[in-house]
Amino acid sequence: MDRRHFLSTLALTSACSVRRTKIQPPAAPYSGRRLAPVNVSNERIIRTVTGLRPFRPSGFVVRTESVEGKTIVHNYGHGGGGITLSWGTAHLAVEQALPTNARRMAVLGAGAVGLATARLLQEHGVEVAIYAKDLPPATTSNIAGGQWFPFGVFSQASASPAFLAQFVEAARFAYRRYQLMVGDYYGIRWMPNYVMDREPIGDGGLVDRRSPIADLLPELRDLAREEHPFPFPYVRQFDSMFIQPSIYLEAMLREFRIAGGTVLVREMHDLREVLDLPQAVIVNCTGLGAKALFNDAELTPVKGQLTILLPQPEVEYATLPLGDLYMFPRRDGILLGGTHERGNWDLEPNREAEARIVAAHAEIFRGMRV
Ligand SMILES: Cc1cc2nc3c(=O)[nH]c(=O)nc-3n(C[C@H](O)[C@H](O)[C@H](O)COP(=O)(O)OP(=O)(O)OC[C@H]3O[C@@H](n4cnc5c(N)ncnc54)[C@H](O)[C@@H]3O)c2cc1C
Repeated sequence: MDRRHFLSTLALTSACSVRRTKIQPPAAPYSGRRLAPVNVSNERIIRTVTGLRPFRPSGFVVRTESVEGKTIVHNYGHGGGGITLSWGTAHLAVEQALPTNARRMAVLGAGAVGLATARLLQEHGVEVAIYAKDLPPATTSNIAGGQWFPFGVFSQASASPAFLAQFVEAARFAYRRYQLMVGDYYGIRWMPNYVMDREPIGDGGLVDRRSPIADLLPELRDLAREEHPFPFPYVRQFDSMFIQPSIYLEAMLREFRIAGGTVLVREMHDLREVLDLPQAVIVNCTGLGAKALFNDAELTPVKGQLTILLPQPEVEYATLPLGDLYMFPRRDGILLGGTHERGNWDLEPNREAEARIVAAHAEIFRGMRV
């Protein structure tokens, strides 16, 4: 999947579609900012992880239903952008929950979406109990790369204008909220991103000045050959926030508890169990779990895999070469992605994909001018 083209048809590709890189001959010395190359080798791999993105072609669900006198507000199905959008869809869900005037509410799920929802409810004076099968660090949100970028959230062919309006509103709210949290406490920082290709980078995708959220990508512009060190003729840059899930989710859970929230580790097996909870208002943030719990046939996993190398603190930029690949540096390691396998529930790492992604990145960083 091309991260640049999420507003055009979302073509979910398999791991096998990672294209072979071809290194360009070195050009003249460049005049842009000095960037430390990533040291890619099999000896530097510390782990490979997988996760299942909760994807719905028509996009995430934020809607309310009444069942047996209880109010259920749904907030799930964020695909590859759940960290990014969490505060935004939490805001939409909270707007639907508050008119009930309930002083106590339940939130199902303790991933990025559940925690942001729970915190926003608390900020409105609601007493919140979280019920979750797994807590951080055992959620899908902990697997995420953590780039602030609403990528792979829906398929253009299936998304309605009403959804797209919700999407843009959620992205804007989340973008503002995360900016207030930048710093070591929440593990959030700004970094430059470099999209690279052998072909001219076309317009019409997210990383495009005409995108409805282009203003959420500061420093968006194409670079001339002498402005970047990468072995590609076409490079487009933008800046974005990066959220390190291990730090961020732990801090969120801590804040939730400090604000008086309760956490119960408990799996909900069916709607009956949900309706039997003591709270009259329940916000469903169960991610992929909503498929079985609320019979959502559209919800499907998109398996993703990340290989993590030893940390390199001097690397402070992200790269997105050739549509499918990406490198995100974090304090806990250098992440190399990525795969997008729709309908695949298998959490075992794919060693063939790992070898291909590591080799492609090794070639790219060997070809970088220093
Ligand atoms: C490899 C990879 C890279 C990614 N990179 C990014 C990125 O860079 N940026 C980005 O924004 N997003 C990224 N994502 C997507 C992101 O991880 C998801 O969109 C996000 O984690 C969804 O959050 P969530 O809170 O809805 O779900 P989860 O994190 O899965 O949390 C769901 C919660 O609900 C609980 N639950 C589920 N079922 C039940 C049940 N029956 N009873 C009780 N509790 C239940 C779970 O235990 C858990 O606590 C990536 C995903 C992957 C796999």
